[in-house]
Amino acid sequence: MSTFSDFRLDHRLEKAVQVAGYEKPTPIQKRTIPIILKGKDLIGTAQTGTGKTAAFVLPLLHSLMNRPNGHHKTRALIIAPTRELAEQTNNEIRKLSKFCNIRSVTVYGGVGMDAQERGLRKGVEVVVACPGRLIDHIERGTADLSRIEILVLDEADRMLDMGFLPSIKTILKHLPVNRQTMLFSATIPDAMSQLTYVMKQPERIDIDLKAPAKTVAHALYPCPQHLKTSLLLTLLDGPDTTSVLVFTRTRRRADRLAQQIDRKGFKVTALHSDKTQNQRQRSLDDFRRGHYDILVATDIAARGLDIADVTHVINYDVPDTADTYIHRIGRTGRAEREGDAMTLVTDEDSLVVRDIERSLGTHIERRALNQFDYTKPAPAMTSVTKRPPQQSFRPRRGGHSRAARR
Ligand code: AMP
Repeated sequence: MSTFSDFRLDHRLEKAVQVAGYEKPTPIQKRTIPIILKGKDLIGTAQTGTGKTAAFVLPLLHSLMNRPNGHHKTRALIIAPTRELAEQTNNEIRKLSKFCNIRSVTVYGGVGMDAQERGLRKGVEVVVACPGRLIDHIERGTADLSRIEILVLDEADRMLDMGFLPSIKTILKHLPVNRQTMLFSATIPDAMSQLTYVMKQPERIDIDLKAPAKTVAHALYPCPQHLKTSLLLTLLDGPDTTSVLVFTRTRRRADRLAQQIDRKGFKVTALHSDKTQNQRQRSLDDFRRGHYDILVATDIAARGLDIADVTHVINYDVPDTADTYIHRIGRTGRAEREGDAMTLVTDEDSLVVRDIERSLGTHIERRALNQFDYTKPAPAMTSVTKRPPQQSFRPRRGGHSRAARR
């Protein structure tokens, strides 16, 4: 299966793949598309950025077209943890169903019910939904799931983390038992058995369970806590930083950091869950269009986002876990493009750094910037203790041109 035509997909889908500019299938597409086309259940472990969405959307659309039922009834349901992921998945569906007579709609909270209700009543074959709002529609009688043929649970580990298990179980009660079910997840924790037990002899596909996209260059930038912001601003001044995603641990920090970056004259916006859905979508669209060079985000807001051509992911705050690290940097080096993942680390972060290295199965290079003054003391009146640049990481001195980072 080295070309898309090997899958023998409907010619309208092949045409859409060409128009999308996908030249050859990615590894997950090569392995999952034939299984899904056979109608089998599937558990796939794959991070976002691997072409995972098209891996299930293409065979899903093919199956719907292959078994036409003449009515615009909801026949496929994709459940996603966040609104952004739902929108992104629907965009991929729109892109790939461009030449087919298949309609889709997104359903999630934080926006009015009416437009979604109209969409559902009009009759759509594919619904991409977040669990809570879908239940609202089921209760109102606007979503009829009695004819679902295909169910996809996307980012299932995230849905468990977010406490969606009871909602998903409620939704499952409204679906026909006779259906094809697919589950995608970055990891498969034990608790996942509470979802997978409904599947029928699922095939299991593992794509790079732990290793992030191979094209990402990783580096750690050790520095004292009080110098993190100025080190970040220096990194942002580096070459090719045209589309940078910066992660912070908290919403407040995301806003404050975006203001500080803005004051330095960069084009920056922030994305976090305190913002309204419209604000979030606008930030995201404007960043995608290149209106902003920098997007400062928290984990929840950025989970699973597909932002093409991110040149760098910078972890201003170290992620809490190795899994979160892998999710964050899934935003760069996507679909075989190159990207850089930089992480600012302080002494306090050494445990989680060790965890990340163990997960990746590799040592991450420590770097220091030649032109940066690591000895600058903490400003008076702050609670941060003065400290020389911490030594435990023994940063290697060097430039920070792209070449030097490799
Ligand atoms: P995903 O992992 O689904 O978030 O996809 C990541 C990005 O890769 C999206 O922008 C897709 O449009 C793109 N993509 C999916 N399949 C391919 C492919 N075969 N070749 C190139 N890009 C792809």
